[in-house]
Amino acid sequence: MTRTAYAEINLPALRHNYAVAKRQLPHTKVWAVVKSNGYGHGLLRVAQALPQADGFALINLEDALALRHAGVRAPILLLEGAIEARELEEAHAWQLDVVVRSEHQLQWLHACGQPLRVWVKVNTGMNRFGFVPERAIAVVAELRALGCQVAGLMTHFACADDLAIKLDAPWQRFMQVVDATDLPFTAANSAATLRAPLTHGAAVRLGGLLYNNNPFYPDTRLWLDGLQPVMRFAARIVHTSELQAGDSIGYGAAFTAAKPMRIGIVGAGYGDGYPRAAPSGTPVLVNGQRVPLVGRVAMNVLAIDLTEQPQVGIGDEVTLWGDARLSCDEIAWRCGTISEELQCALTSRLPIRQIVADNTLSPLPDDQTAPAQCLAYL
Ligand SMILES: *Cc1c(COP(=O)(O)O)cnc(C)c1O
Repeated sequence: MTRTAYAEINLPALRHNYAVAKRQLPHTKVWAVVKSNGYGHGLLRVAQALPQADGFALINLEDALALRHAGVRAPILLLEGAIEARELEEAHAWQLDVVVRSEHQLQWLHACGQPLRVWVKVNTGMNRFGFVPERAIAVVAELRALGCQVAGLMTHFACADDLAIKLDAPWQRFMQVVDATDLPFTAANSAATLRAPLTHGAAVRLGGLLYNNNPFYPDTRLWLDGLQPVMRFAARIVHTSELQAGDSIGYGAAFTAAKPMRIGIVGAGYGDGYPRAAPSGTPVLVNGQRVPLVGRVAMNVLAIDLTEQPQVGIGDEVTLWGDARLSCDEIAWRCGTISEELQCALTSRLPIRQIVADNTLSPLPDDQTAPAQCLAYL
């Protein structure tokens, strides 16, 4: 194998995380959110690993159709509804639930004439999409008059992941519509699901949680026990070198050795999806131990301090994130971002190895894997 960086997707861990969520939520449907290529884990891979899922939620019609073509029969919700009028016909033909979140989508539904299953989106303060409460109540009546099946109400909280901000105000706005219409509702993403059981309703929409991303990191008080990492990003050491005191390493000479050091050059960089923003000191895992990154992350390589790991050498594997001892949340937090951004940023050129059953690894594809072959391999 000449590709030195790769990702491993642990499908039993994903299934386990879904089961942990289900156990916590016996009275509500759990929809797996699989937008943006399943948060970078692979749309079809994730969907096919969760045959027990109550439903899937995503943004693009094309993705919904890909799931249907792959034989997924579970409910699928288009979180932002139709982007063009013609999509409504397809949504009806393929039995997709659609969100109605704006006046122009309502006009398309008037013109469409199909008895679609719809969820009316209420704007509770995100102020991007949705109807204000009074208008939402009227829209429900309008849709019913059109022959649509109004499956329920939907909202999305702006600040659910910030425990310092209460959900009372958006919740009261949403409840105005729930009380007036007596419809089922879906309101909670991962963060709201964890912090506010009141918001669970008919279905929760879990993205990050299924992929082991704690929306409150580093606060772990509300995090569920037993969730497991799903994506592991790893790379091989391609070179080792020595620094003398005063030598610097990498672009911009951003790190200078204070004492003699042994350096490992790892074959992964921002061109593979490792964040360039990771500062010196960001941990990686080698040989089960955390060692610090040193100097700037380059496009294809990064450097680590192997002074305390004399036995580690060329060809050995480094875990960049996605181990019980080194979470993606920690790396993201150290870079001032969230795990979702890192996971979505893994390039499609990266070979993917999937763990399909406990301790069973599918082999890495041959080197030079083109994206198309890579998909076929998946
Ligand atoms: C992405 C998304 C979710 C899932 O959010 P997580 O925080 O990843 O659980 C839920 N609802 C909507 C509308 C979304 O866009």
